[in-house]
Amino acid sequence: MADVPAECNIKVLCRFRPLNQSEIIRGDLFLPKFQGDDTVVVAGKSYVFDRVFPTNTTQEQVYNTCAKQIVKDVLGGYNGTIFAYGQTSSGKTHTMEVQIKLCYNSIIHATFHHFKSFFFVVTKTNLSVHEDKNRVPYVKGCTERFVSSPDEVMDVIDEGKSNRHVAVTNMNEHSSRSHSIFLINIKQEHVETEQKLCGKLYLVDLAGSEKVSKTGAAGAVLDEAKNINKSLSALGNVISALAEGTKSHVPYRDSKMTRILQDSLGGNCRTTMFICCSPSSYNDAETKSTLMFGQRAK
Ligand code: ADP
Ligand code: MG
Repeated sequence: MADVPAECNIKVLCRFRPLNQSEIIRGDLFLPKFQGDDTVVVAGKSYVFDRVFPTNTTQEQVYNTCAKQIVKDVLGGYNGTIFAYGQTSSGKTHTMEVQIKLCYNSIIHATFHHFKSFFFVVTKTNLSVHEDKNRVPYVKGCTERFVSSPDEVMDVIDEGKSNRHVAVTNMNEHSSRSHSIFLINIKQEHVETEQKLCGKLYLVDLAGSEKVSKTGAAGAVLDEAKNINKSLSALGNVISALAEGTKSHVPYRDSKMTRILQDSLGGNCRTTMFICCSPSSYNDAETKSTLMFGQRAK
C-alpha cells in the first residue's frame, strides 16, 4: 500500500524568463506585473495560477515548490507527470532539464535507506505509438536505460536531444518541433518486508506552442506544425476535463501523447504544468495565448 498523497489535483505554475539581449537591444517592453505569489498582470488582464514565478526565481525555488513533493509521492508508489508548455524560447528546456536533474538527485538520495531500488530512464521524441494485443499503448523503439548517477542522466538527455528533430523556421532562432518525453521509472522492494512499490514520473518538454502562421512554415514543416498544434490542443482538452473533475469523459484517446501518459495523468496521479512565458512586448500575443491555455486547466 502506498502512502496517501497530501493533495490530488492538477497544479499550474507560471514562469517568466528574463528579457534576453536581443530583446533589450530592440527596446522591447517588459510586460508582466507580478502580484503576490500567484498572480501576474499582462496588458491589464490578471491571470491567477497555483504559483507565479517572476524572472529572478532560481531553479531550486522552482523545484522546492513543485517537483520535490511529486518526487516524494512517486517514491511512495504514485505516478506523476510534469509538463512545460510555451512558445519556442520561453524557457521550457531551461526549466525541465534542471528539474529532471534535481528530481533524479533527490531520488537517488532518498531511496537506499530501506529499499533496494531499481530505476531506469527512458527518453523518446517523435512518438510512434502502437497497441499490444490487449490494446495497451506502447512507444515503439524507445531507449530504456538503467542509470546510477546524475551524470548518466545528463548523457541520456543529450542523446534524446540529438534525436530531436529540429526544423528551421523564421521564429527568432529555431523551433523545436517535437515533444520530448523523459520517464523515470522506479521500482522498489523493502529490504525487510519485501513490500513492493512502483512509481513513474514523466517529464515532458512540449514542442513550441507558437501559431503556425507566425513561423512562416510551408510543406512538410507546415504539416508537422499542424500535428503539433493538434496534439497540444488535445492535451489542453484532457487537462481541462481533468480539472473540471465532474466530467466523466476525459478524451485521452485523441492524441498519442495523452494515450501514453494516461496512467500518469489525473486520478490520483500528480500532474503539474509549467506555463513558460516570454516577458517581451514583441511576444505579447503568444504570451496571452499561453496564459489562456494555463487558465483552462484551473
Ligand atoms: P524553449 O525550450 O522554451 O524553447 P529555452 O529553455 O531554450 O526555451 O530558453 C531560451 C533561452 O532563454 C535560453 O538561452 C535559456 O537559457 C534562456 N532562459 C530561459 N529561461 C530562463 C530563466 N528563467 N532565466 C534565465 N535564462 C533563461
Ligand atoms: Mg526547448
